[in-house]
Amino acid sequence: MRILVANDDGIHSPGIAALARVASRFGDVRVVAPDVEQSSASHAITASRPLTYRRASHMPGIEAWRVNGTPADCIALGVHHWKDVDIVLSGINQGLNLGNGLWHSGTLAAAKQATLFGMRGIALSAPSATAAGEDVDYEALAPHVERVLKTLLADDTARLVNVNFPLAPRGITWTRQAVRHYDGRVVPGKDPMGRNHFWFTVAPIEQTEPGTDLWAMERGYISITPLSLDLTDLPGLSRLVNEHPLDAPPVEEPTEAVEEDES
Ligand code: MN
Repeated sequence: MRILVANDDGIHSPGIAALARVASRFGDVRVVAPDVEQSSASHAITASRPLTYRRASHMPGIEAWRVNGTPADCIALGVHHWKDVDIVLSGINQGLNLGNGLWHSGTLAAAKQATLFGMRGIALSAPSATAAGEDVDYEALAPHVERVLKTLLADDTARLVNVNFPLAPRGITWTRQAVRHYDGRVVPGKDPMGRNHFWFTVAPIEQTEPGTDLWAMERGYISITPLSLDLTDLPGLSRLVNEHPLDAPPVEEPTEAVEEDES
């Protein structure tokens, strides 16, 4: 099995080295990751300049490449140069990717890019530090990562999956994405030159719902959420179709050429 490993924290993150080590127990591993941190880059692609890459030699025994692009770019370059990739693993992110965070996550975007190419994609995240502020012990996490991969590789129906690890897991559970509205406050401040600057901060304004990724993590459980690429609100769509019927386009040949992404 060919396993492409990427992340959004950058090629030098200890999380990606830990993931590549565990992944190599399941197949051939190649690492293709951003040369600098791209956290919160979400699913951005580099469209206005060319991409380049270089060999990275700091992971013994693992072929690794660093790319001057986004997490999604890394997957595109990775599968361009390495045919027949079976699965993309993204992470282990230094920081959880739960609930609304999935909208911003570059870690998830790399996995999403894999599913857009028809492969499987799994995003893996853990806290960025211990509660005491110490570095994460990836060796201690490794058996849990291995158990999750074993579970997910045994059944290929889940094409896009988001996994979060507490640092001392009490078990593993299937979850759905938490959706909580947030206050989205912009906090003003002054820089050392006296100029105004602003921080976009978010604080949730609702409780955690049972069965969600956040709820599982609050109980010390590894959360595995199967995701879908289709963002359509299906119950909402059928309600609108019924209550506000609009025109019905003909089923025959299209009359317009439309690009999905004209950016
Ligand atoms: Mn990150």
